[in-house]
Amino acid sequence: MNNLSFPVFKTKVAGVKQAFKLEDPADRQKYFKLKAGEDIKKIQKYLKKNTFVGFLLGKKNSGKGTYTKLFMEAVGSDRVAHISIGDIVRSVHKELGDKTKKKELIEFLKKNYRGPVTVEKALDIILGRDTKSLLPTEVILALVERQISMLKGKAIFIDGFPRDLDQISYSLYFRALMGYRDDPDFFVFINVPESVMDERIKFRVICPKCQTPRNIRVLATKEVGYDEKIKQFYLICDNVGCNGGRMVPKEGDSLGIEAIRDRIEVDDKVMKTLVGLNGITKIYLRNSVPVDSAKKFVDEYEITPGYRYELDKTSNKVKTIQEPWTIKDDAGEKSYSLLPAAVAVGLIKQISKVLDL
Ligand SMILES: [Zn+2]
Repeated sequence: MNNLSFPVFKTKVAGVKQAFKLEDPADRQKYFKLKAGEDIKKIQKYLKKNTFVGFLLGKKNSGKGTYTKLFMEAVGSDRVAHISIGDIVRSVHKELGDKTKKKELIEFLKKNYRGPVTVEKALDIILGRDTKSLLPTEVILALVERQISMLKGKAIFIDGFPRDLDQISYSLYFRALMGYRDDPDFFVFINVPESVMDERIKFRVICPKCQTPRNIRVLATKEVGYDEKIKQFYLICDNVGCNGGRMVPKEGDSLGIEAIRDRIEVDDKVMKTLVGLNGITKIYLRNSVPVDSAKKFVDEYEITPGYRYELDKTSNKVKTIQEPWTIKDDAGEKSYSLLPAAVAVGLIKQISKVLDL
């Protein structure tokens, strides 16, 4: 059991009783305005002339992309960009198929990359022609720097980190990137309890007809069926235009987080190393709040709802019961999981603070 514990961020505003539907984009705008309106204005003003670089650090499936998207939704997306390390490597793969782009890329690497293998060998690794060697950190570093240069004038969230580095390489990698542009930079740590990630995978279902994804535990449909034979409830697709397919689990999902355990362990180790790095501004996002103190920190509508089902024996109809999704956090404490918008409020307010606005 790992135990990276971040402080709970208070989003509750004293005296405000208004509730919002956080899954509705229009309502979400009003919500952001109420909870972080002043900070949003300050950040918007700041972004007119300035930029920042935020490094998103969280385990696989921790929702890094979601929080950035919500940040952009709140402050506007024209001055903010999101890049992911995985996408950068994949896009290089594509560029190598185009003659002119390939030439540019090779020239760039020859000029900017200093590392243990030749540029040609590095490209072989990217293309999968060499599967025995790992892509040197220096190559990733050069590629990320190239991407940052292309996004001049924009604030950037950099999503992810290279794996398979030792502790020293990590500090070197981040220190090189952090000094790369002459603007403020900071780490954004995202802590999502493993039980949350586990149930998100385990109870995931998909419509075989239209591929709409749902979750029997946290993202129910309007209609639910009951399978007498296997004594199990199932969701019925309610996507407009789809005529009600029985949603099914995906193969391997029943293993939950165990299926990606190795990856999670590596991510966990990296996170612990990075939390310990000194001289870097850090922002902490926490997905969960202990049940006992939830009322003090958040409003009820900011808590992720969960669903369970009961079969009415007389009418043979399924009744859906909605109640807060209760899980255990990594320290074993009974907790609620927050909706992404509530976590995003924490991101907005903390960014405003570290930028000293
Ligand atoms: Zn469907």
